[in-house]
Amino acid sequence: MNPFLELGIREEVVKAISEIGFEKPSEIQEKAIPVLLTGSDDFVGLAQTGTGKTAAFGLPLLEQLDFSQKHPQALILCPTRELCLQIAKDLEKFAKYIDNVHVVAVYGGANISDQLRQIRRGVQIVVATPGRMLDIIGRNAIDFSSVKYVVLDEADEMLNMGFQEDINNILSETPEEKKTWLFSATMPKEVRRIAQKYMTDPFELTVGTKNTGNANIEHQYFLVKARDKYAAFKRIVDSNPDIFGIVFCRTKIETQEIAEALIKDGYNADALHGDLSQQQRDKVMKRYRDRNLQMLIATDVAARGIDVNDVTHVINFSLPDEIENYTHRSGRTARAGKTGISISLINIKEQSKIRQLEKVIGKSFERKQVPEGAAVVEKQLLTIINKVNNVEVNEEQINQFMPAIMEGFESLSKEDIVKRFASLEFNRFLEYYKNSPDLNIEAREVSGDRRERDDRGPRQSSKGYTRLFMNLGSVDEFSRGDMLGFICNTANITGKSIGKIDLKGVFTFFEVQDEEVNKVFEGFKGIDFNGRQVRIEVSGASEGRSDRGSRPRGGGDRGGRGRSERSGGFGGERSGGFSGERRDRGGDNRGGDRGGRSRGGDRGGDNGGFRDFSGKRRESKSRY
Ligand code: AMP
Repeated sequence: MNPFLELGIREEVVKAISEIGFEKPSEIQEKAIPVLLTGSDDFVGLAQTGTGKTAAFGLPLLEQLDFSQKHPQALILCPTRELCLQIAKDLEKFAKYIDNVHVVAVYGGANISDQLRQIRRGVQIVVATPGRMLDIIGRNAIDFSSVKYVVLDEADEMLNMGFQEDINNILSETPEEKKTWLFSATMPKEVRRIAQKYMTDPFELTVGTKNTGNANIEHQYFLVKARDKYAAFKRIVDSNPDIFGIVFCRTKIETQEIAEALIKDGYNADALHGDLSQQQRDKVMKRYRDRNLQMLIATDVAARGIDVNDVTHVINFSLPDEIENYTHRSGRTARAGKTGISISLINIKEQSKIRQLEKVIGKSFERKQVPEGAAVVEKQLLTIINKVNNVEVNEEQINQFMPAIMEGFESLSKEDIVKRFASLEFNRFLEYYKNSPDLNIEAREVSGDRRERDDRGPRQSSKGYTRLFMNLGSVDEFSRGDMLGFICNTANITGKSIGKIDLKGVFTFFEVQDEEVNKVFEGFKGIDFNGRQVRIEVSGASEGRSDRGSRPRGGGDRGGRGRSERSGGFGGERSGGFSGERRDRGGDNRGGDRGGRSRGGDRGGDNGGFRDFSGKRRESKSRY
C-alpha cells in the first residue's frame, strides 16, 4: 500500500502527488502528517527548507477543509513572494483531483485587484506575505472569521524581515480557537516567543538536530588573504566545472561587483539583489531555474525563498553578519534528499566565526586547500575530454557538412586536430593559471586579546563615548576590524578607546571615548583614502548626550586636501584588492606583486564574532 495512504491521505491526493514523484513521505511528512491530521493540536516544526515542509502541512490541510464552502478556512503566511507562489502552486498540484479547491496567492509587487477578485470569487486557502495581507485586511476585503488553521512558514525568516507586528495584526483577525502550525528552520528566542504567545501546548517536532543544517550538506572553508578571495573563488569554480551554485555576498554592491567581474571573466553568472525590479529578479530567477545560468550571485534577502533543486554548491563569498543566515544559505543546497556542499571563503580573522558556526550547526567544517593552478588546469582538461566523449552527434545534420569539414582539416593530423579543439576551450585556463601562486595561508590562533574584543558583541551602553560619522564603509572594503585598525593608526589611539563600530555601505558610525575625540579629529585632518578626503563628523543621531552637535570638535580645518604620509601608506596598500584583481585577467598569476592590500588579511582587530542576531533584525532589512 502507498505509504501516504497509510498515513491517512485520501486517494485523489495520493494520485496527484505520485504523479509529481512523491513515492514515500519525507521525514517531516512522516512525523507531522499524523499529528496534523488530528486537527486538534497547535504545532511547531523545526525543519530546514527543502525537507518537504509544504506537503507536511499542505496534505493535512487538504484533508480537513470543507471545499463545499467558499470562505477562507486556512491562512498560510510566509516571508517572500517566491515562497508564496511556490506554496500556492504546490497546493494546487496536490489538490489536482479534488473538486472546488480554491487557493489564492496574496503577495506584494503584483496587481492587488486581481488578488481581490480571486478572494471575492471565493477561496478556502489563502497563502500570503504579511504586508499585502494586511493591506487587504485594511480594505475589509476578506473575512477570516471561519479560519480554522493558520500556518506560519519560515517563521524565523518572517521575523528576520521585520514582520512581527504585521503577523500580530493579521492573527488578531482570526478566531481564537483556530490551530496554529509554525515551521521554522531555526528557533531564535523571537520565534519561541511567538510560539508561546499564540499556541497552547504545541506539539513540537524537530527534523534533524535542533538548529542543525541538513545532514546531506558538507561544510567546507578555504582560508585565504582578503585580497586573494576573488582569485581563490575562481579557482574553486574552475575546479568544479559542473557547478550549479548560489554565491552569497553581504551587500548589494558586493553582489553586483562580483557578478560583473565574473561575467567579464567569461563565467555564466548574474546578480540577484534588492535593487533590481521585480521583473528583473524574475528574469534572473527564470534563467537560473532553467539552468541557463550557472551561478547566481545573491544577497541573503534576495535569495530568500529560492527553491531550486539540484543546487550543487552554496558559496559564502562573505560570511553572513548574522549567524542564523548561514543555515538559511546552506539550506539552498541538498534539497529533496540530494547532497550539496557549502563553501566559505574566509580570512584569518574569521576563523573564530567558523568555530561559532560549528557550535551552532553541530557539525564540523573541513578546511580545504585552494587548488593549485596545475590541478585546476588538469580538471578542466579532463572535463573537456569527457565532454567530447559524451557529446551527442546529430549524424543527419552534421553529415551534410562533413565534406567541407574534412576538407578544412585536410592538412592537419588527427593529433593536431585534437590539440586545436582542446585549445579552443583550454587556452584561457592555461594562460590564466600559468605561474599561478599558492593562495592558501596558514591558520593561526587568534590571540587572547583579540578574541576578547571579537567576542564582546555590540556594546549596550554608550555612556562616556561620542558617536562619530566617517564617510568610508564596507564599500571601501573595510571590515569592522579593518576600520578599527584604520581609526587607531590614523588617530594614534588604542583600540580600547573605540566603542561600537557600525559599518555601513558607504559610511560608518563609531564610538570614541569622549576624551579621545579630539585626537580623532586631529589625526584625520587632511587624510585621503584612495584619493577621497576622509570626513569625520559628530553624529547628530547619537543618543544620551546633550552636547553633541553636528559641528566637529576641534577640527576647524580638517578638510585640508593634502595627502599625509600616513594616508598615502594606508591608501596605497588598500588600492589593489578586489577591483585590481578583477580588472586584470592575469591577476591570479601575479598575486605576489600586485601591490594589493598587504595588510588586508590580518590588519586590525577583526570582526571576529557574529552580530547579535536578536538586536539587528530591522537593520538587515534595510541594509540589503
Ligand atoms: P519543500 O521543503 O516543501 O519546499 O520541498 C522541497 C522539494 O522536495 C520540493 O521540490 C518538493 O516537490 C520535493 N518533495 C517534497 N516531498 C517529497 C516527497 N515525499 N518525495 C519526493 N519529493 C518531495
